[in-house]
Amino acid sequence: MPSTTSAARKAALKDITSVRLPVVHVNGDASKPTSEYFGINTFGARQMRAKLPKEVFNKLTASIRLGKKLDADLAPTVAQVIKEWAIARGVTHFCHWFQPQTGLTAEKHDAFLAFDDNAQPMESFSGSQLIQSEPDASSFPSGGLRATWEARGYTAWNPASPVFILDSAGVKTLCIPSVFIGYNGEALDEMTPLLRSSDILSARSMELLELIGDKGVQRVFTTLGPEQEYFLIDRGFFALRPDLVMSGRTLIGAPPPRGQQLEDHYFGGIPERVQACIAEVEHELYKLGVPIMTRHNEVAPCQFEMAPIFEETDIAVDHNQLVMATLRRVALRHGLQALLHEKPFAGINGSGKHCNWSMAINAENPELDGVNLLKPGKTPHQNLRFLIFLAAVLKAVHENAGLLRAGIASSGNEHRLGANEAPPAIISVFMGEMLTRLIEGMVEGKTEKGSAAQLLIKLGVAKLPEIEKDNTDRNRTSPFAFTGAKFEFRAVGSSASIAFPIVLLNATVAGAIGELTERLRTELKTTKSVDDAVLKVVRQAFKESEAVRFEGNNYSEDWVLEAEKRGLLNLRRSPEALDQLVTKKSRALLADLGILSREELESRFHVRVERYVKDMLIEMHTLSQMVNTLVLPAAFSYFGRLAEAASHARSAGISIIPQIDAANEVGGRIEELRARGSELGVVIESAEAMHDNLQKQAKFLTSEGADAMASVRETCDALELMVADESWPLPKYREMLFPV
Ligand code: ADP
Ligand code: MG
Repeated sequence: MPSTTSAARKAALKDITSVRLPVVHVNGDASKPTSEYFGINTFGARQMRAKLPKEVFNKLTASIRLGKKLDADLAPTVAQVIKEWAIARGVTHFCHWFQPQTGLTAEKHDAFLAFDDNAQPMESFSGSQLIQSEPDASSFPSGGLRATWEARGYTAWNPASPVFILDSAGVKTLCIPSVFIGYNGEALDEMTPLLRSSDILSARSMELLELIGDKGVQRVFTTLGPEQEYFLIDRGFFALRPDLVMSGRTLIGAPPPRGQQLEDHYFGGIPERVQACIAEVEHELYKLGVPIMTRHNEVAPCQFEMAPIFEETDIAVDHNQLVMATLRRVALRHGLQALLHEKPFAGINGSGKHCNWSMAINAENPELDGVNLLKPGKTPHQNLRFLIFLAAVLKAVHENAGLLRAGIASSGNEHRLGANEAPPAIISVFMGEMLTRLIEGMVEGKTEKGSAAQLLIKLGVAKLPEIEKDNTDRNRTSPFAFTGAKFEFRAVGSSASIAFPIVLLNATVAGAIGELTERLRTELKTTKSVDDAVLKVVRQAFKESEAVRFEGNNYSEDWVLEAEKRGLLNLRRSPEALDQLVTKKSRALLADLGILSREELESRFHVRVERYVKDMLIEMHTLSQMVNTLVLPAAFSYFGRLAEAASHARSAGISIIPQIDAANEVGGRIEELRARGSELGVVIESAEAMHDNLQKQAKFLTSEGADAMASVRETCDALELMVADESWPLPKYREMLFPV
């Protein structure tokens, strides 16, 4: 008596096994070298130079390069050439593409269609349509901001990010990357604070550079290379799992006999079907100008990673959104489902997004232009500069670890941080052996006497060797690691928009740079040589931030104890981490730097706590429905079969009736599940009754809510291992993670 759902499982398996070899939908470009079509769906520098009058092009690129606003008189000319370019490529509509606080992107399409004086249809796209648009903003999360200020929102083009054409099912739309702000300039999106944080980091860094004698710097910008992890599983199985469809992760599922212990997936060959999908994702991204560089298998079965060549941060953030959206979209064409959730499968590695981050210089002086501030140099001066920026980052992370932890807090990442596979919730910094020795040498102050030049030589800082990646990259357990010429913020979740974590990182570093600059100014009143003064400031900063440096195994129990002794925060749950956003210190930092006003920060806090509550409630309702409509019916039906068989055996006078024991075991678990399921229902009701107190609700859900879900899961997973395979309605881990 196989149930219809198990028949569906079988059908899904049949579909998969009958799939023919991969079809690569690469629109005929496949035979061309990548460089020929890279960026053809964007209107970037190359296209602009060809199409715009030279003077307009120069002004536009200058404004982009210097991060300045676009001159309004340029807009009509730019709009005109963009329109011609887009129409020639078959585009009919345009939209302002922006990033509200949903973690995703939003767009509202308008046609190029207009009518001339004789009522004749024509294509039209004005300068003001390019620059500004007014979407109906009322349904985006604003954390109460709009309600307080009665402000409607509008979107404005961010010319630093090139416009692009999104091709979905052959429908081509011109997307204009934009910020989303209220009428009084309040930030309603992810991009606005990011741009503000870049500006202030630039200003603070320039002051410091000026002071240490690096003149003529036009701008300091940050670079970002996000490594995106994700799973690809069969769409047929995905569709049969309400938990994956509703919440992005499996809420139940017994562990398979083989997980990742054979360690055979990491860097193994990519299966052909998946390869076809990934190649097509990359192909679409190349056309959008996203420089995807690496692809490889990750640790868990069916888990992969895709990483671009690093770019300037705001572009990298836009591009990461395109990476996530393209993965989701293209996978469907291959009968696959991309899972971007941080922890789709319990007991199997989760997914993160390592954010490789550094700071670099724009300058007219060719010796300074393009210099990476976090890369050791060749001269003593360059190395002092490197050390003071390094010291600023250490100080920033040490003093604001809680705030950085808050930036990565979400319901999904909660399952990942602290599990024995991902960086722990304790934020510490890994520096690598060579720099640790150097920093410790400086902190211990063995070489108190002498000029900076002599000290530098004694400390081995005058000439720093190129830091080998192998030297720095061995410790994969650190949440924040220095890897040669950049920091790698590894605790960021795979599904998250990386804008907010980077806003907070930029903010904390800008704050620390400002403080070190002040100290240096003071020091220069008594110390004549700039180098000597820098060295003193660097030493002190290294000393102060000592506690945040950790070279050991971040996954070990000992580290938790050690970190506590050092006074480092260990914020394991999202609500307590989010509280760090609204401490007095966080508020002051972000407001003083002009990144987020008190109200704007409050609204972000509200949006994030609310999102956490919504995620948890969706999971709990989904689980409850799965128990009642899938798991219990399957268990009842199997129980019935056992009972029936036992009764037949008894009537036939058979004396050994093992089905009785089996039925009793299943019956016991059924009773347990009914009890735990109703407890879950009670917890859901209590949580919902607290709706007027969001923070209380979040705290309740993260403890009682998570516990109730875990206890229901335990029983479901036990039942999965008892009930006949053919009666089990849900695709199992074995099936989803080990494609046949
Ligand atoms: P992995 O960390 O996987 O060993 P790499 O260190 O080579 O690989 O690079 C990971 C990512 O870091 C890539 O996206 C790369 O472009 C980026 N990256 C390299 N240098 C910088 C930098 N200066 N700033 C930001 N990102 C960088
Ligand atoms: Mg890396």
